[in-house]
Amino acid sequence: MFNYRFSRRVLFILFLLLFSGIRVFGYEIFYPSEKNYTTTYDYGLFVGKARSSESITINNEKVFVASNGAFAHSVKLREGDNRVFIRSNYSTKVYNICKKKEVTKVQPEFKEVVEHVVLVNKDNVPLRSAPEDIGFNIISYLFKDTRVIINGEKGNYYRVFLSKDKFAWILKSDIIEFVNADKTPASFINTESQKYKNASIQTISFTKNLPYTVEDGEKEILFRVYNPELSENSVYTLNILKPRNYFYNVTLKDGLYTFKVSEVPKNLEDLTVVIDAGHGGTEGGAVGCLGDREKDINLRIALELQNILKEKGVNVIMTRECDGTISLKDRVKLAKENDADIFISIHLNSIGNIHLNRFQNRGTSVYYFNKNSKELATILEKSIPKSAGTQRDGVKTASLAVIRPANYVGVLIETAYMINPLDSLLYSQEDFAKNVAKGILDGIKSFISE
Ligand SMILES: [Zn+2]
Repeated sequence: MFNYRFSRRVLFILFLLLFSGIRVFGYEIFYPSEKNYTTTYDYGLFVGKARSSESITINNEKVFVASNGAFAHSVKLREGDNRVFIRSNYSTKVYNICKKKEVTKVQPEFKEVVEHVVLVNKDNVPLRSAPEDIGFNIISYLFKDTRVIINGEKGNYYRVFLSKDKFAWILKSDIIEFVNADKTPASFINTESQKYKNASIQTISFTKNLPYTVEDGEKEILFRVYNPELSENSVYTLNILKPRNYFYNVTLKDGLYTFKVSEVPKNLEDLTVVIDAGHGGTEGGAVGCLGDREKDINLRIALELQNILKEKGVNVIMTRECDGTISLKDRVKLAKENDADIFISIHLNSIGNIHLNRFQNRGTSVYYFNKNSKELATILEKSIPKSAGTQRDGVKTASLAVIRPANYVGVLIETAYMINPLDSLLYSQEDFAKNVAKGILDGIKSFISE
């Protein structure tokens, strides 16, 4: 006789086995999070973890799986629809990626504008050497109510006349027209220089707020203040000799510029270091092969670094000590308010629209923006791999918000690649954070010692 109850039980057990079987032998994809998405990228990246050593293919290409199950694989996308099949012995997943053509912008034309004076409408307005929003063309940050002469336009930018043959560019939205205001040109009042602790300070005073530029020269920092309303050759240049390790800042109040060049202290006990754990809270950062989030590993390293620096007597400021959301602007503000000497931003890398090469897109890279931060970046790019066992991935420059100010020596460390299976073997180890922190401490020590 057919035992209905018995066969149901057998079916149930079979179902359980099958279900747990999938869990033992299956794989998980952590990136991308959507099965259908649109991109302008040339490559689609797949990051995940296999639960056993079974083989995985993506569009029939065998995928390298590290001993911890981590894998990452990029697929070349063609314009339009791309179907990507991820297969293991037990399951197949299908992703639909639509690649859109990148829209090329039409270059606006240059037009003359009747020469007139306008006012900068807020603090921290970039003055650029070209009418384009790229970090490396910033020649200074203007203050609110600075008077600038404009005489041309291109797209969203006005051309600023600084002196004979010297022009710069400012966003149209960063100025207001000058109505019913005193139109007499500014005149020079006085200039002074003084030494204060580890800093050289020069002041220069005018009857009005004038534009300025900064140039980090061979041996000195050159601050130039332009008074083009008075004469087209009216430029005041202040040079301050720079020490070996330095940072600088500028303030302006009622026509009085203060230019300050500071020396990085030579002892750990005199040093103020801002430790910036990248991302946090609602911003997870990159996703790793094992499903881990960049923000958590960044914080782990930052907390280890906090410990080890505090032990040495360093004054440490943390941008975050838990999993909270904090804006880039606030991170910079915190550093400026606390007169930081060094700013260390901690991240782990991902890749953009490139083909992933697990032997090349691997290891520690260190970014800097200003010349004054190059040496620390160069030292850290060696000291971290030495201590943490990562591969060296180069010293690089990038216009990133937290390292753009010259108010401190600022570096951004991409400790390892979240999405590299070989790096995931390293960064998921117990002592990885400690070893990175030690590498950073070693780097700071050799940076400040002569
Ligand atoms: Zn990051």
